[in-house]
Amino acid sequence: MKFGFNMPVDLNFGAGVVSGNKGKFDLGKKALIVSGKNSARISGALVDVLDALTSNGTGYIVYDGIRSNPDLESVSKGADYGRSNGVDFIVAVGGGSPIDAGKAIAALCSNDIEPIDLIGKKLNERPLPIIAVPTTAGTGSELTPYSVLTIPSMKTKKSFYSPFIFPVSAFLDPCYTYSLPYAITLDTAFDAFTHLLESYLSLRSTPLNDIIALAGIRAFAECRQPISEKLIIAETREKLMYASCLGGMAIAQTGTTMIHSMGYSLTYFRNYSHGRANAMLIGEYLRFNYDRIPGKIDMVMKILGFKDIDEAEVFFSMGLDEKPRLSDEECRTYAKLATEQANIRQNPRRVEEEDVYKIYVRLFGGAR
Ligand code: NAP
Ligand code: FE
Repeated sequence: MKFGFNMPVDLNFGAGVVSGNKGKFDLGKKALIVSGKNSARISGALVDVLDALTSNGTGYIVYDGIRSNPDLESVSKGADYGRSNGVDFIVAVGGGSPIDAGKAIAALCSNDIEPIDLIGKKLNERPLPIIAVPTTAGTGSELTPYSVLTIPSMKTKKSFYSPFIFPVSAFLDPCYTYSLPYAITLDTAFDAFTHLLESYLSLRSTPLNDIIALAGIRAFAECRQPISEKLIIAETREKLMYASCLGGMAIAQTGTTMIHSMGYSLTYFRNYSHGRANAMLIGEYLRFNYDRIPGKIDMVMKILGFKDIDEAEVFFSMGLDEKPRLSDEECRTYAKLATEQANIRQNPRRVEEEDVYKIYVRLFGGAR
């Protein structure tokens, strides 16, 4: 047996973890709080963070210009704002988008590079230290060394990796997700599930990581009924955040695979949320990989209580109004973009561009 496991984040989980750990927010003299327009406020997270900072006598400024699927321009603006105000650490508050943006801003504040150079180039200087406070239960970004950014010049989303963008501390309080509407709860929960699933089936999976991924899949399975019945009570919120937490820890080790590579175009070109884009691909992903890895897929089906992949596919299409309809040319373009993503190489079965094309056609083909 040979494996590694790297999780250098000080993880704090449970109701009241921000207020109960104010001292851990003392990472510098002045913080740049990175958030979206509303979520930090309506979730209640921002007020707790500001209280922690002021009780330490730490200064702060707020940059709330992050939209879903953050692009290079918004992180560049955030970094300019942070640099010109002399901030020395980042507090990212919100869903995966503000947390990923906070990581990119942390890197740009300390490295004099073009934002596009975040992708694929090594950072010369350490990014500013990051604290992450999630308000969705989905991406697990608070526990990963990745930041996913929208790159208009490449017509896709790309992630950048650095071991130094692991947050120093993460505060996962399920109460911050109480204000999430049902549709976002569902989509983000599906994202968390795909992290667990793809990590468990990844070529890079390890015995230790499998334990984490399976525990997360079990937690998600316990939410299946409340999700279906739209009865999301406090206990469900806690389990979803736990599943998301384990999903983040799992992909921090293995990365994602085919679902994420294929989902990006559905978000970039068709505006489906990240979790929804992934959810639409789960059934075909399982069918494509089944022969290579039947034992693990049977195990997932058993834990979730599905009799077969068809039943799972129906569950993961819950809440979907309409599938996209793609032309043949679009299927070709999306397939090319997906196979260019690095993470697709960790798929259990080798994936060719033609395989991806066929899956897009089967799922969404037919438009003229
Ligand atoms: P998000 O884009 O951060 O947020 C989606 C929507 O939910 C926004 O409108 C946001 O409002 C709102 N929202 C967030 N928390 C809320 C709350 N508590 N109450 C009410 N509304 C709330 O969604 P996400 O799914 O968490 O993040 C998606 C991004 O993360 C994608 O770009 C994806 O590629 C990336 N991702 C990263 C990793 C990683 O490891 N780094 C892994 C998976 C996915 P505001 O606009 O006001 O914020
Ligand atoms: Fe994801």
